[in-house]
Amino acid sequence: MSLEDAQRIATNLAGLRERIALAASRCGRDADDVRCVAVTKYVDTPATRAVFDAGCHDLGESRPQQLWNKAEALSDIQPRWHMVGHLQRNKVARTVPLTSLIHSVDSLRLVREIDREAAKINRTVDVLLEVNISGDAVKHGFAPAETEPVLSAMVELSHVKVQGLMTIAHLEGGADVARRNFAALRHVRDRLKNVCPEVVSLAQLSMGMSRDFEAAIAEGATIIRVGSTLFEGIQR
Ligand SMILES: *Cc1c(COP(=O)(O)O)cnc(C)c1O
Repeated sequence: MSLEDAQRIATNLAGLRERIALAASRCGRDADDVRCVAVTKYVDTPATRAVFDAGCHDLGESRPQQLWNKAEALSDIQPRWHMVGHLQRNKVARTVPLTSLIHSVDSLRLVREIDREAAKINRTVDVLLEVNISGDAVKHGFAPAETEPVLSAMVELSHVKVQGLMTIAHLEGGADVARRNFAALRHVRDRLKNVCPEVVSLAQLSMGMSRDFEAAIAEGATIIRVGSTLFEGIQR
């Protein structure tokens, strides 16, 4: 990691924070209510450390194996790790002790496995339900109509705490479609609020990536997941 690259990452983070602040102020929100997770899947461990050093302490990976490797390599700084990609059940045991939030719960079997592993280490794990709002066949996530029965099932799981919902906007639809997808997730959340059990929180909406985080903030995102914008111009 060259000094230039480290500086570049710090500059990119500052630029991102400015855009978040602007997007929040445009819709009368407080920028502090939007948490930014730096998705570090494109870069190596030194660049990942650099984004932490620049002040972003929430880091995300989309592949469990990469998260394990980086968590080990960066155990001296202890970032809050976010699992944002598809999690297979046979990878739960190693992932649970390392993560602060699993964004990508997409089946009941998965969340039951998370509960079992969390119980073993006497922890409660925070998760989000991934919702396939765009109806994209290649995407993971619950259909909006499936979310209510899933939330009802959470009363049986004492080592998992649902904190909200996550989605990925339609990738080819452009800005208008993304914004509609984000609004749709908020509507799902608002509807679920009236019917979900008390053990469930729906406070968090994880939505928005480099190309569409401003639209997500306008539609109520409390967590955005940003990768490429942060690492623009870095030698890989
Ligand atoms: C890669 C990834 C991101 C970040 O994407 P960018 O477009 O690079 O900002 C966010 N969320 C998930 C689930 C991802 O896999």
